[in-house]
Amino acid sequence: MSAEQIQTALKILKGAGVRMTPQRHAILSYLMNTKSHPTVDEIYKSLGGKFPSMSVATIYNNLKMFKDLDLVKELTYGDSSSRFDANMEEHYHVVCLKCGTIEDFYYSGLHQVEEEASTSTGFKVISHRMEVYGVCSDCQVQH
Ligand SMILES: [Zn+2]
Ligand SMILES: [Zn+2]
Repeated sequence: MSAEQIQTALKILKGAGVRMTPQRHAILSYLMNTKSHPTVDEIYKSLGGKFPSMSVATIYNNLKMFKDLDLVKELTYGDSSSRFDANMEEHYHVVCLKCGTIEDFYYSGLHQVEEEASTSTGFKVISHRMEVYGVCSDCQVQH
């Protein structure tokens, strides 16, 4: 992710009256610079050393705020903990069944599926979700 994306996010936060703290900035730029779709715990492990006073709750509260401002997406997978994604472009995820890695891939939006769902049920369709499951290239090597 680019510095430009961070600048845009900072503007949005400023516009929303959010005070920028070093911790907040670190959480945001961490998310924007990773493609790993981290959990709150993973963010905590990565940044905790730098910010000893930062708690898991702090991170969670910040993520919730970023989410409310449409800066990040929360991905929920059943009962395992949520993961966070700062890539707001429309994309899909492929999930490794062995190590849990989530990778982005792009596919022309499945809008036809939404239309079909709407036509056949009369629903006003708002969104859809699709995940692809498999074994990542790293896990394929280590049998
Ligand atoms: Zn894997
Ligand atoms: Zn993603």
